[in-house]
Amino acid sequence: MNKEQKTSIIKMRSDGMTFSEIANHLQLSINTVKSFYRRNAKTKPQFETCMHCGKPIEQTIHKRQKKFCSNKCRNSWWSAHPQNRRPKKIYSHICAYCGIAFQSDRANSKYCSVKCFADARRKGNRI
Ligand SMILES: [Zn+2]
Ligand SMILES: [Zn+2]
Repeated sequence: MNKEQKTSIIKMRSDGMTFSEIANHLQLSINTVKSFYRRNAKTKPQFETCMHCGKPIEQTIHKRQKKFCSNKCRNSWWSAHPQNRRPKKIYSHICAYCGIAFQSDRANSKYCSVKCFADARRKGNRI
């Protein structure tokens, strides 16, 4: 699997494609795709029940997962947890060196880790 394929898997998966669609598209075996994804993609927590009242929430597929069943619950939860307000904005990136998906609070991060940053620079200097 090359770097493009790895990046594509993460991207297609976040676009809502199934593992078999991705595998067909990249001409890889479904198990390769699955095990790569399992190792590398950070799966988002599932919010299947309302964080406030615990009622099950109907999720819209391919849409952002809802955390509350209603605006009322969201408002009550936020007033009960004021310390959680204004979370830092988190940006999603693909590491320019290893192709792994990662998140950062900086909009312009290019590498998932200091190691990738150093490796990329070392490689760059050698050319
Ligand atoms: Zn609720
Ligand atoms: Zn990296």
